[in-house]
Amino acid sequence: MPAPEIDVLIHGAGPVGCTLALALRGTRLRVAVFDRTSLAASFRPIALSYASRLILERIGAWQTATPIETIHVSQAGGFGRARLEAGDAAVPALGYVMDYSTLAGSLRSQVEEFITKDAVAAKCVVHAEGAAPDAEEKRYAQDAVVALVHTDPPAHSAAFERFTPEGPLALLPFAGRYAMVWSRRPQRALALAAAPDAEFLAELGAAAGHRPGRPVKVEARAVQPLVLRVRAARIALRAVFIGNAAQTLHPVAGQGLNLGLRDAWDLARVWRGSSDPGDAATLERYAARRRLDAAATIRVTDFLAGAFLGSNRLARGARGAALAALDIFPPARRFFARRMIYGPSALP
Ligand SMILES: Cc1cc2nc3c(=O)[nH]c(=O)nc-3n(C[C@H](O)[C@H](O)[C@H](O)COP(=O)(O)OP(=O)(O)OC[C@H]3O[C@@H](n4cnc5c(N)ncnc54)[C@H](O)[C@@H]3O)c2cc1C
Repeated sequence: MPAPEIDVLIHGAGPVGCTLALALRGTRLRVAVFDRTSLAASFRPIALSYASRLILERIGAWQTATPIETIHVSQAGGFGRARLEAGDAAVPALGYVMDYSTLAGSLRSQVEEFITKDAVAAKCVVHAEGAAPDAEEKRYAQDAVVALVHTDPPAHSAAFERFTPEGPLALLPFAGRYAMVWSRRPQRALALAAAPDAEFLAELGAAAGHRPGRPVKVEARAVQPLVLRVRAARIALRAVFIGNAAQTLHPVAGQGLNLGLRDAWDLARVWRGSSDPGDAATLERYAARRRLDAAATIRVTDFLAGAFLGSNRLARGARGAALAALDIFPPARRFFARRMIYGPSALP
């Protein structure tokens, strides 16, 4: 059999697959990217961490986005709140908000030179298709309602993560508005997405509290089902799984793409200087390097998705005390903020 002409074939030109292709530019590896679909235009807010910004800057793909300078974490109907500032983590911003299709479109336009129309033979296949059909799946008893919300006064640079009895509500500043992701029981999510504007705005205002401002207009409502899907092994014979193809997370705390970009970055680093990217020892080195970050991030988001559910008074009191302690204890704030930005490693 002739030797493959390509070293690395990336299945999936989503943000993670494209980031890997760009991170491999300038190495000796011959790379091709294969995708089956064109990009969907629906709105999905993405909060990228400062670490993701560094990765995108290093591959020449960073673009402007709305910075998050403060995050308020609180619970509906209970005391206690924590306020995280960019200064807690010694970074210029805790994160940056952009639209998925804008980011994905821009990355895809930069990998045109790598795009192939056929799935050609390669020494190693990277699965970045965004889903792993053979992974273990847990369906959350929640769906996410996504929307763009205008408030009075308008959004600036503060984000709000509010834990409600049905699920977390995130309001992310996005070009003078808030990008909303509100996880709720599936029937209630559908009803909220279809509710008349006035009803939607009143319900959101009651759940969000006064800090983000008064909701006055809503656009681009949609519902997304929520699952936790984790592949038992992130490598196989001459194959590797990255991004959502390795793990699909609940969107609470906005970790999915951030984790996927760290997958892509670490894989490119392991492959630098390698002539056989499908070599078993090389792939094992990659899997070992990603184990801790992936396991910890999956555990934290799964915990947060369920931890604040329900309206039990005792549990609400304990949660309030935990938030208040986080708020007044700077080393805890610093640890928490840096952990959400970088994962367990230092700078990427
Ligand atoms: C409501 C919501 C809010 C979110 N908010 C955040 C956030 O704030 N921050 C964050 O970090 N993450 C967030 N996420 C998660 C984030 O969207 C995903 O983690 C991210 O899109 C994964 O990128 P990916 O490139 O791995 O997969 P995808 O974005 O799914 O891209 C996969 C690509 O593979 C292609 N493809 C599919 N099948 C095939 C095939 N058979 N062959 C070839 N190509 C194929 C697709 O066309 C697509 O281009 C959110 C998710 C949701 C649902």
